[in-house]
Amino acid sequence: MPRVCVIGSANVDYTVGLPRLPNPGETVSGGTLLVNLGGKGANQAVAARRLGGEVRMIGCVGDDLDGRRIKESLAAAGIGVAGLCASSDAATGTALIMVDAQGRNQIAVAPGANHRLTVEMVAPHAESIAWAEVVVCQLETPLPVVRWTLTEARRHGVTTLLNPAPVQPLDPDLLALVDYLTPNEHEAARLTGLAVDSLESARVAAAQLLASGAGAVLITLGERGVLACDGESVVHFPAFPVEAVDTTAAGDAFNGALAVGLSAGGTLEQAIPLANAAAALACTRRGAQDSLPDRAEVEAFLRSLGGRR
Ligand code: ADP
Repeated sequence: MPRVCVIGSANVDYTVGLPRLPNPGETVSGGTLLVNLGGKGANQAVAARRLGGEVRMIGCVGDDLDGRRIKESLAAAGIGVAGLCASSDAATGTALIMVDAQGRNQIAVAPGANHRLTVEMVAPHAESIAWAEVVVCQLETPLPVVRWTLTEARRHGVTTLLNPAPVQPLDPDLLALVDYLTPNEHEAARLTGLAVDSLESARVAAAQLLASGAGAVLITLGERGVLACDGESVVHFPAFPVEAVDTTAAGDAFNGALAVGLSAGGTLEQAIPLANAAAALACTRRGAQDSLPDRAEVEAFLRSLGGRR
């Protein structure tokens, strides 16, 4: 079984569907509440698990009801949660989301316990980093933790994947610890200071990120797929055509699946179609963790496409 360790965030999302979004100072009533589990780290862990990975998650929730709910839910999905710490100093990461009848949203996030994750909390779980074939990080947990994790993974020869979201400046020392960097267009633009809105501009941005130290750069281009550059070749993998109804967690599906595809000693040629297929299927369903496909669905989808990549 592919072994994946995710170091990242776990949140609870409270979503209220409303006839319209409130103006500042206004109250709009009449909505219904939906409670979902999210956070890029937890989403990517679930994505990898559904694709058949053996997955461990390291992160920090609050010592509260939501924190326990997250831990139970991840454990029920078969994810190792021994590294999911509980902080008594902060509440579990929470997103408050309002969605109107046209699907437009307003989101407020309280990162809470996710920002309390420290190297001291992660270090006792270093064994899970050494155990993994691929270690996956995002940027919803503090940068010192990401840096320490990538360093530890590198020391053990474990493949590292960094999804630089939400984007923030990254120095070349950190990029040099990343085997696979997976920004979307917006994140690639912010990391490089270049406009990224076409295949050609993505190619230029990827070249700059490679020159800054990343081992390989995969720029996800939404419905246009992925541009993958590993220093030797530049390959565009188009997205699979689907009827997209909600692209929430497309990137998370992509990264979780990519980690599984790469752990089995897989090449990008093998792993990217798996990741593109998982992400495309996630776009066909509403929600975040609820929309993530399992292995059988992804394989059936790939078969239905008759070997197109
Ligand atoms: P993010 O969700 O992080 O913003 P992208 O929008 O680039 O990232 O999407 C990630 C991946 O999800 C894409 O590389 C692609 O594989 C898939 N994807 C996104 N939108 C679509 C779509 N409309 N149809 C098919 N696949 C899609």
